[in-house]
Amino acid sequence: MSNNENFSSANSESRPSLLEHTRNIGIAAHIDAGKTTCTERVLFYSGVVHKIGEVHDGGATTDWMEQERERGITITSAAISCGWTTSEGPFATIPHRINIIDTPGHVDFTAEVERSLRVLDGAIGVFTSVEGVQPQSETVWRQMDKYNVPRLGFINKMDRMGSNFLAAVTSMRDKLGANAHPLFLAIGAEENFRGLVDLVKMVAYIYDETDESGVRFTVEEIPADLKDLADEYREALLEAVSDFSDDIANKYLDGEEISEAEFKLGIRKATLSLKFIGVIPGSAFKNKGVQMLMDAVVDYLPSPLDLPPMKGEDSDENAVEVAPNDSAKVAGLAFKLMSDPYVGKLVFYRIYQGTLKKGSSLYNPRTRKSERVSRLMVMKANDREDIDVAYSGDICALIGVKDVVTGDTLADKDLDLRLEPPSFPEPVISMSIEPATKADQERMGIGLQRLAEEDPTFGLSTNEETGQTIISGMGELHLEIIRDRLFREFKVDANAGKPQIAYRETMLKPSDGNGKFIRQSGGRGQYGHAVIKMEPLEKGKGVELENKIVGGSIPKEFIKPTFDGIKEAALSGVVAGYPVIDFKITLVDGSFHDVDSSEMAFKMAGIFAFKDAMKNANPILLEPIMQVEVSTPEEYQGELMGDLNRRRGQIQGMESRGNACIIQAFVPLENMFGYSTDMRSLSSGRADYSMTPSHFEQVPQSLVQSIVETLSREPART
Ligand code: GDP
Repeated sequence: MSNNENFSSANSESRPSLLEHTRNIGIAAHIDAGKTTCTERVLFYSGVVHKIGEVHDGGATTDWMEQERERGITITSAAISCGWTTSEGPFATIPHRINIIDTPGHVDFTAEVERSLRVLDGAIGVFTSVEGVQPQSETVWRQMDKYNVPRLGFINKMDRMGSNFLAAVTSMRDKLGANAHPLFLAIGAEENFRGLVDLVKMVAYIYDETDESGVRFTVEEIPADLKDLADEYREALLEAVSDFSDDIANKYLDGEEISEAEFKLGIRKATLSLKFIGVIPGSAFKNKGVQMLMDAVVDYLPSPLDLPPMKGEDSDENAVEVAPNDSAKVAGLAFKLMSDPYVGKLVFYRIYQGTLKKGSSLYNPRTRKSERVSRLMVMKANDREDIDVAYSGDICALIGVKDVVTGDTLADKDLDLRLEPPSFPEPVISMSIEPATKADQERMGIGLQRLAEEDPTFGLSTNEETGQTIISGMGELHLEIIRDRLFREFKVDANAGKPQIAYRETMLKPSDGNGKFIRQSGGRGQYGHAVIKMEPLEKGKGVELENKIVGGSIPKEFIKPTFDGIKEAALSGVVAGYPVIDFKITLVDGSFHDVDSSEMAFKMAGIFAFKDAMKNANPILLEPIMQVEVSTPEEYQGELMGDLNRRRGQIQGMESRGNACIIQAFVPLENMFGYSTDMRSLSSGRADYSMTPSHFEQVPQSLVQSIVETLSREPART
């Protein structure tokens, strides 16, 4: 267990071993479980920062957005690199590079979680030793299941009143269904928490109470009162690992000695299989257990080589796989954008294959443009380090690439490849926003545009009727933070309207549309004419546009303006003015005039044709549906289910986990306002819940009228 400050991986000669010794990890947790403190300590022990930054005094390194410090939650994922060398085990004395991708804990930011999960290879789930598994950690855990992320558990806050390591491990088994096994036992609890028993080596690490930074501890015999418990849990660990390693199984059955390295490789294999979670107790705040956690990251979490290839497709939509290989052509994913006050736009980039040199160009299949990478960097706590080259499996920051949004593939120009981007849900909530003074108008526009590029779940539009700017996102807190960032980063003071549901529109049946724009009042006239076919697409398919004009009934140069008109018209549907989604338009016919036709006239024709088609397509209003999970003691289950039913909820299932009862339901977002208060009062404060946006569904006809009426009074739409 040691730090090594001078680990400068990116320019090293010995690449193959380096890739094997890279760990791209995330730390995921319920808010307040201690993720920031853990990250902070990891950076401290790895020698990157020399003074421990506390969350409560706002000095934490990863919480570098000012408002996050105030809120005490980490909203934006940052990637930070540090080095670590273990002194024992299979990777002893080999310097490892650890890239920590921060994952947010708040439910409004699940899209952020999803996007970081796409680029990390392994993760640490942080839970508290008092509360165990909390609902939000369950949501994140399930997302990690979806992305097949091998994990470790860290049971934090062992120093707190009521802490109980083994109970927290049980709650991981009960609530998460995880095959969780202690790798260490806690020595003491609450204010007597003073060390850990290593179940692989069968020794005790006792922290030196005179050294508050927790750097010093002694290796001792297991305390007598813990000996039996340690034997029991070592036995259980061996048995669990035997399921994943025949060697260990045979030796275990024959009663043969199992070496430390063998045991660790067994645990590694078990962890990588996704069917085993090793758990470590600790107290990040009191600087205990963090070094053991770092060793476990190196010993048990995957390197980029341990993972299945990343999936993508070529321009003909054929599947393509990408695996780490430094000599292949470079391909990677831009997973995060940040504006940095010193270097401008930083693009966080995960390289899936190839080697990227500073000064080379990367091609973006979305924009069909190549851009030059003028600088390459790795982020180290508060520092940025310039590097000349980055390799497969690395995470680095690019400077110079401008026209990029989160989720873009950036690759060698000769590669015909688009990597599978993370999936981002449609926004579910919106509000109007306007600058406090007229002078701020332009800066607000620039600021919002920048924030929208960074955050794919943040939407921006203009209400045609009122001219208001409308912002939309994943929840109230999400939009509130956008407003704060406008103020802090762009110095724009903005007033926001009341949050509104972000409805959508679509249609139930195919129809035809005919749009003509003709003006002949004096001077040069205007003439544009488009005929279209409209058809509904499956949920989530988005918008498709196809040109089937033959014989030049619309000249080529007017096709794009016609489509532009259609796209513009689709931003505000005919039911209540919301964006129209999931449809296909085929441009089939039209006509033009030699003198009077213009781009503008065809754009108008496109708008008219779209509106005409919508009228006969049986247009409907769609509302966001949330996936809600309520965790409650059994006695309140009936009341809470009745309440969910009254909120137009559809109960999906019920199960018991430990002594809690879990209710799963789909509930319209409209009916979730004020839920938290009602749920608490119905359960005497004992139930808890989490919710994530799930999908859009048709608003029942009986409610459409009242929604439209409310809107005409408060026209904030997007
Ligand atoms: P995050 O929201 O998961 O990033 O959690 P933070 O790291 O911000 O921690 C939340 C609060 O818990 C802060 O006030 C920390 O000082 C405190 N905290 C973190 N780890 C520990 C711990 O091990 N013991 C105790 N007692 N408090 C802790």
